[in-house]
This record gives sequence, C-alpha cells and structure tokens, in this order.
Amino acid sequence: KGRLTIAGCGLHPGHMTLETQSLIQTAESVLLVAPNPLSIQHIRQLNPHTEHLGRFYNMGYSRPEIYRQMALYIIDLVHQGKSVCVIFYGHPGVFVSSTRMASRVLAGQGYPVAMLPGISADACLYADLGLDPADTGCQSYESTRFLLTRRDVDTSAALILWQLGLTGEHSMDKFEPGKQGLEALCKLLQMDYPSDHQVCLYEAPTLPGFEPRKDWIALTDLAKADVNTITTLYVPACREPTFAEERLGWLGLTETDIS
Ligand code: SAH
Repeated sequence: KGRLTIAGCGLHPGHMTLETQSLIQTAESVLLVAPNPLSIQHIRQLNPHTEHLGRFYNMGYSRPEIYRQMALYIIDLVHQGKSVCVIFYGHPGVFVSSTRMASRVLAGQGYPVAMLPGISADACLYADLGLDPADTGCQSYESTRFLLTRRDVDTSAALILWQLGLTGEHSMDKFEPGKQGLEALCKLLQMDYPSDHQVCLYEAPTLPGFEPRKDWIALTDLAKADVNTITTLYVPACREPTFAEERLGWLGLTETDIS
C-alpha cells in the first residue's frame, strides 16, 4: 500500500541525517528537489530509483502551479501503491508548499504520511551568525508577505526574512525580486529601525568546507543590495525589551529581581 515520507537533506551533503539516509536506501521511489549537484549525486548513489523534480521548474508554470504539479505527481505515485520518499533541501516543512499539499490530500485519504526534519537555512544562520533565538526572541517571515501585510514589528527581537531574492515578486512567475521590492522593503524597515542599523545578507554554504556569505550592510543600502534565490536577511534587534510591570506584579516581583 502506498505511503509518503517527506524528509530534508540539509543544505549540503554533510547535513544528511542517518535517519534520512536509511529512508532513502529503503524507499521504492525517491523524488528529489535539491539545488545542489553534490546532494543530487549523493542521493542517487544511495538509491538508483531517484527522480529529480527540477524539471517542474522549467515547464513554464507560475510558482504556485509548479508546486501544485509537484504535489499532484507525488499523490499519483502514492496512489499507484508505491512507498514514496520525497527529499527536499533544508528542512522539508520550512517554506515548502508542495509537500504540505500532497500530505494534506494523502492523509485525508487515509495514507500513512510522515515528515523527518532536516537542517534548514535558519539553523545554519544561527550557527554562522552566532544568533541564539533565546537571547532576544526571533521573528521569521517570508519577505513579500512581511512587506505586504500589516505587522507589529518587535524591534527588541531578531528578525529573519526568507526569500529576500523574491521580495515584491507578486506575479509569482519569476525567480527574482519584483521591480521595487527591495526599495519598498528597505523603506518599510526604516519606519521601525534606524537607517544605519547593520543588517546581514546571509547565504549558508551549499558545499562542505566553504564559507558562508555574511555581508553586513547599513539598512539604507538594502534597496540596492545584491541578492539571489538563496539570500536570507537577518535584522538584529535594535533595542532592549521593556519589562511589563503589571506582570512582574502578578508574580510579586520587581525589575531588580530579574537579572
Ligand atoms: N526548505 C528550505 C527553505 C526553502 S525556501 C530550508 O529549510 O532551508 C527558500 C529560501 O530559503 C531562500 O529564499 C532563502 O531565504 C532560504 N535559503 C535557502 N538556501 C539558503 C542558503 N544556502 N543560505 C541562506 N538561506 C537559504
């Protein structure tokens, strides 16, 4: 009977977990979306029945249609009775819509569906930029969503913006920022953060042994920044949070009791 397991292979071959590796080795059919040739080669070596889904990106579909077609393809294989394993780069449940779509449909039809985590871009960012989300708290948004929806930005917490390289690309059929996307994002952020606030253009290495991109720039320069499909933006907190006195009161405490 068909089943679906979705797993992440991290950002480079060294990130593969033992659990995911053994899943790949035992699956009847492996479907793969990984931008990096070394990971593709590694997974093909683990299981010759591996099919790369990169072709869905080259068929002239809009982005939502690419993900829908992938989901339909996955669903179809499971319906054929196969034990299917879908491997996505990074963590397969982080900013990946095709797998969610497929698992929702298949789980609803009673097929076994499971997901194994992988090392995601933010996990690498925490390591490479020395950010511990426990220190300030951390907000994480898709860049265009962040730009176009009303948010109360907490400038006392870190902010991570994904898909910076697609900012403002509302037509959903290109893989580059919308015309005024970065300028608009830069303008929006400057409503809450100082213009000279240092922000980081971050790219985790996709080959083992390589250095990450960590370009610290003034917020005002974000409008003209050089970004691509793997760039993530990190905006550090710019102020200390204030204590909620009434809540300290609930616990019978004052600010001096907290260090
Ligand atoms: N599932 C992936 C994310 C896919 S969405 C994961 O778990 O990491 C694609 C977005 O992820 C990119 O726009 C970028 O914001 C981020 N990303 C992907 N690869 C990256 C890399 N090598 N370094 C930094 N960010 C990356």
